[in-house]
Amino acid sequence: MPHLDPERFALVAVGEAVTDAEQEHLATCDACAIELAGLEHTVAVGRSTVSLGELETPPERVWDRILDEVRSQPAAASDASTAASAAAPAPAAAPAPAVAPVPVENEQPERRRTRRGGRMLLTLAASIAAVLAIVGVWNLVRAPQSVEIASATLAAFPDHPGATGTAQVTELSDGERTLTVSLDDSDDGDGFREVWLITEDASALVSLGELDGRKGTFVVPADVDLRDYILVDVSQEPLDGDPTHSGDSIVRGQLDFS
Ligand SMILES: [Zn+2]
Repeated sequence: MPHLDPERFALVAVGEAVTDAEQEHLATCDACAIELAGLEHTVAVGRSTVSLGELETPPERVWDRILDEVRSQPAAASDASTAASAAAPAPAAAPAPAVAPVPVENEQPERRRTRRGGRMLLTLAASIAAVLAIVGVWNLVRAPQSVEIASATLAAFPDHPGATGTAQVTELSDGERTLTVSLDDSDDGDGFREVWLITEDASALVSLGELDGRKGTFVVPADVDLRDYILVDVSQEPLDGDPTHSGDSIVRGQLDFS
């Protein structure tokens, strides 16, 4: 059996069953097996991209373009065959008219159409794959990506035995950083808890805000260099209207940049 027809590749790749003869050929022909595997991969990628969902505005506009492209294909193909038959008389004037491309014109027009259909299918499949890839990338770019850039284990101060905590710094694709603090402390105390970033030598500190409950996420001011403000601190603050650190730290830990 000769190599598989391009049209068959496309159909098999999208799920049509292979015939016994094709199966036999695929088992022995690396070229066809590789070609099919590549197409099946493209289809699988396309399908998984679709199932990721969120195909919003692009498809309509893009589908129009695909349809335009597909519609233009047969026209181009007939132009080519018209050109071929138009060119035929020229060789006919040449010394050996018997072997002119005339037979090609009469030979199985059905077959030619099928081949053209196969090419169109492949073009369509390739266009769809390209569109899905673009839409997929577009969704990736659009979705804010966040990545953890540092973390800390927060250890208890002597006045707050048994307290523990953790902190994670997350950076979004737009550069914004957030600090998420979790505090496990059985002693609730009076007043409220406040989250701070402090330099290693404690010469400077910045308040990120009140920790309401056991867990909170705070935006790290853009001008704060976390390599300097490397200590995460949670303090117990009395309701005395004094915005400075009370000096009563519950837990504290140093950020570890992964
Ligand atoms: Zn083959």
